[in-house]
Amino acid sequence: AKQLGRNGFALFSSDLREQAEQRILLLKDMRQALCANQFVMYFQPIVTMQTMEITKAEALIRWQHPTKGIVSPAEFIPLAEETQLIHQLGEIAFTQAVDVLKQTQHFKNKLQLSINVSPVQFSAKHTTLLAWQGQLAKHQLTPDMLVLEITEGLMMQGEGRSQKRLTKLIQQGFAIALDDFGTGYSSLAYLKQMDTEFIKIDKRFVDGIEHNEEDLVLCETMILMAHQLGLKVIAEGIETATQHELLKQAGCDFGQGYFYSKPLPVEMFIDHLNTRNKQ
Ligand code: C2E
Ligand code: CA
Ligand code: CA
Ligand code: CA
Repeated sequence: AKQLGRNGFALFSSDLREQAEQRILLLKDMRQALCANQFVMYFQPIVTMQTMEITKAEALIRWQHPTKGIVSPAEFIPLAEETQLIHQLGEIAFTQAVDVLKQTQHFKNKLQLSINVSPVQFSAKHTTLLAWQGQLAKHQLTPDMLVLEITEGLMMQGEGRSQKRLTKLIQQGFAIALDDFGTGYSSLAYLKQMDTEFIKIDKRFVDGIEHNEEDLVLCETMILMAHQLGLKVIAEGIETATQHELLKQAGCDFGQGYFYSKPLPVEMFIDHLNTRNKQ
């Protein structure tokens, strides 16, 4: 039994060490990637449900790794948040979104772009968030062209620094979307109080609506409730025509998902918009 115990312990500690080593490697790799401009934003179209017109898009970060290929944000955002690198990634998202806004200003239908903002960008002692309005102004752009996607946790942090900054950004005119709605501890009172403009219904609700009556009822209820509070609804993860139809019938305002388009690299996204605009 002693032998086993010792083996067990040895295995456990070498696992931990391996994990720690991997984190250090990943961190080193990320720092190099920042210098080498390996982080790029992809843009996923968001359509107005009634017309299928592309009226918005969400910027989603990708790591173009020289040997691993495209690395998903799920693999590096958490570590970036722990190490404050998230501020630099947040700046990349903002800067590349501004670039796309500049390129699409002459389009008949102006786009509203959304970017994901980490709670860490709000809570850190120093933040670049409050410099964004000024940077937009330099390009004759206004905050209402951007939607900041935040998660419910941020809204629940009470009287802190984060909430003051959020209030400030709303005053400056940025639109706010509550991401992954229904998956956390949403407080409807906060929704109203914070002047949120959109809620995003999480993919895990959308997934079930074709086959599961309860999921459909949940989506319908979230949409009704949001509308009664004066909020607009974006459903994410729409993959089929049936899901599109059901959500459209339920009064959902905007849709996002592979059914319309996957996230696209900037040039492809602009091409896609150009083709659609000519039709
Ligand atoms: P999210 O904000 O909930 O983004 C939606 C995710 O769903 C994206 O994954 C998108 O590619 C994916 N998606 C959209 N439509 C479909 C669909 O029809 N089917 C399926 N299977 N997936 C769909 P992605 O790009 O891998 O991003 C994952 C998460 O990483 C995001 O979830 C967000 O929380 C985070 N993230 C992405 N970019 C950024 C960023 O620039 N900053 C921060 N802080 N977080 C980011
Ligand atoms: Ca999002
Ligand atoms: Ca989401
Ligand atoms: Ca999600």
